[in-house]
Amino acid sequence: MRFIRFIHEGMERFGLIEGEQVVPLSGRPWEAISPCGQAVPLAGLPLLAPVCPSKIVAVGRNYREHAAELGNPVPTSPIIFIKPSTAVIGPEGTIIYPPETKNLHHESELAVVIGKRAHRIAPQDVAAHIWGYTCANDVTARDLQRSDEQWTRAKGFDTFAPLGPWVETELDPGAVEVICRVNGQVRQDGHTQDMVFDVAALVAFIANAMTLLPGDVVLTGTPEGVGPLQPGDRVEVEIQGIGVLRNSVGLA
Ligand code: ZN
Repeated sequence: MRFIRFIHEGMERFGLIEGEQVVPLSGRPWEAISPCGQAVPLAGLPLLAPVCPSKIVAVGRNYREHAAELGNPVPTSPIIFIKPSTAVIGPEGTIIYPPETKNLHHESELAVVIGKRAHRIAPQDVAAHIWGYTCANDVTARDLQRSDEQWTRAKGFDTFAPLGPWVETELDPGAVEVICRVNGQVRQDGHTQDMVFDVAALVAFIANAMTLLPGDVVLTGTPEGVGPLQPGDRVEVEIQGIGVLRNSVGLA
C-alpha cells in the first residue's frame, strides 16, 4: 500500500492511494486504516512530506564505494547522526542553498519509516517495527561537514531533508536500486544490496541507543556519486519500487 500526506478540507491528513484516487484517512495509518470522506484525484494534488518524524537518524558511509570516494575507511560499526525534524520538506519543496556553504551536495537514500515503538529490539524483530519506506535526500553542506567537528550543522539546515513522495509498505529493502538525477542527468545509481549494514542491523543498532517512535525516519546511507547542487537545479531521488522524489534548489 502507498500512503501520502496532504491538505484535505483544511486539515493535514494521511491518504491511501487507490489507483488514480486518494482516500482520505483519519488518524495514523500505522495503527488503523480509517477512511473519512470522498476520494480525490491523485493527479495534481500537492503532497506534504509523507511523515512528520520526531527525529531522523541517519547513517554515514554505509556503502563501500561512497566511503572510498570521500577518502574514508569502511566503518566497522554504523556511524549515526541526527537530522532535525525542522529540516523536512516534501515533494516539490525547495532546498534552500544557505549562504554559509559553498559546496552543497545531494545524497540519495532509502528512508525507513518506523511504525511501532522500538527499543532494544533484535535484528530479526526489526521488520515488525517498520511501517514502510520512502525516498530521501540527505542534503549536505560538504565543506561544513569537513570543517565542523560534528556533522549536525552541515546536515541540519532547514530544507536539508526532503522526503517522499509517499510511504510504500511493500518493499524488500535489500533489493532496490537507489538513483539520483540532477537536471535529468544520472549522478548516483546504486543498489541497496551493497550496503555495509543492512536495514535490520541499522535499526537494531539505533534502537539499542534511543527509542524509535512511530513516524521516525532512518536514513540508510548513500551510494557513490555524491556531488554538487546549484541554485536552479532540479534534483530527483528515485528508488525502485517506491517512486521519484523531486525538489528544486533555490537561494534563501
Ligand atoms: Zn547520507
